[in-house]
Amino acid sequence: MATAGKVIKCRAAVAWEPNAPLVIEEIEVGPPQEGEIRIKIVASSLCHTEMFHLFEGKDKRGFPTVLGHEGAGVVESVGPGVTDFKPGDKVIPVSVAHCGECRFCKSPKTNLCERSWINDHVDLMSYPTTCFTCRGQPILQFTSTGTFSEYIVINQIYVVKIHDDAPLDRVCLLGCGIPTGYGAAVNTAGVTPGSVCAVFGLGAVGLAAVMGCKNAGASRIFAVDINEQKFEKAKVFGATDFLNPKAYDKPISEVLAELTNGGVDFSIECVGNPEVMRAALESCIKGWGVSVLVGYTDVDFSARPIQLISGKTWKGTLLGGYKIKDSLPKLVNDYMTGKIMVDEFITHKMDLEQINDIVSPKSNNSIRTNLLDDLMNCFHKSLFKFHSFIF
Ligand code: NAD
Ligand code: ZN
Ligand code: ZN
Repeated sequence: MATAGKVIKCRAAVAWEPNAPLVIEEIEVGPPQEGEIRIKIVASSLCHTEMFHLFEGKDKRGFPTVLGHEGAGVVESVGPGVTDFKPGDKVIPVSVAHCGECRFCKSPKTNLCERSWINDHVDLMSYPTTCFTCRGQPILQFTSTGTFSEYIVINQIYVVKIHDDAPLDRVCLLGCGIPTGYGAAVNTAGVTPGSVCAVFGLGAVGLAAVMGCKNAGASRIFAVDINEQKFEKAKVFGATDFLNPKAYDKPISEVLAELTNGGVDFSIECVGNPEVMRAALESCIKGWGVSVLVGYTDVDFSARPIQLISGKTWKGTLLGGYKIKDSLPKLVNDYMTGKIMVDEFITHKMDLEQINDIVSPKSNNSIRTNLLDDLMNCFHKSLFKFHSFIF
């Protein structure tokens, strides 16, 4: 490629500071160094974790940054030592590393990687080095990715090569939200055929969890959200029962216990709220109930010891437990062969310039957005577009 080895100037949405609108800027993206890959981002979508960093997190470091960690693109060039990728490969950059060599990567018990940024810089929400500069200063890459930029540079341990025919404006969603929720059900919870499940929070993560429960053979899936507009879409993914906790004058765990003869077999929290985390645990049946935390927050949570003494299990998941290099290409293929839904998460498109209509406190907890530059536009017009999810 003509750009290989050179600095690329391109557009990105920069978050200069917390609680402020993003600014569309021209940024410089340096060439990839040892072990790194430069990717032309074709499509990207918005996960609630970006909203958390911008508006909700207690730690206000980690700025200026380029948000975005659900993206897909094409390799533009590779740095020295990169042999598994070449220019033109279709790829998904992911916030969860998979070096394949550390003791965690070698263990089948976890998808954590010892080399991941998350081990040392979780409050910063990025590692301290970056390929981005703007107006003469370094700009961080949110969770090592920063996909709200037309180009990124990222270490190869975070990159997955996918099928040549994969539609990038769809499979970008497999960069975080869908595998997280789906894997929370099928991997972390280990939902079993015939079981009764409850999913709390019906954003893309929760809807994917509903889809995971359904594909694992659950007989009954309760979809729980304070926004009843989400119920219709949850039905599409397999939910059978719908509960708004605000509609009851008693705790939702009691409501579920009455409806299920003591509680659900599996509950999955996809909100990021400590009270909901507790409610999800309390909604499980004693003896064997399993509750999985998916939602992210930086405040403490609590529960009564009897909840666990009585035989319940409380677990958490990062990206649904998936080791990215082994699993994401398979999930892309599962989408392409109709085993999992992806298109159903998408509602409409917007331009990059409209990003602040979506990334704002107003849209918190209600809108899911997919920043998209579809392939044709990418190569012919270099325009970004948005897909947004309003469930
Ligand atoms: P989202 O904002 O699209 O959806 C959240 C949903 O929760 C909304 O439908 C909202 O109405 C609902 N909700 C809010 N308060 C509620 C309450 N009290 N009870 C029931 N429902 C309530 O978010 P998302 O992008 O789907 O992400 C969900 C969570 O998962 C976030 O906390 C995000 O940070 C986290 N996350 C974790 C991982 C991981 O690897 N563990 C990965 C991605 C996202
Ligand atoms: Zn995410
Ligand atoms: Zn590793």
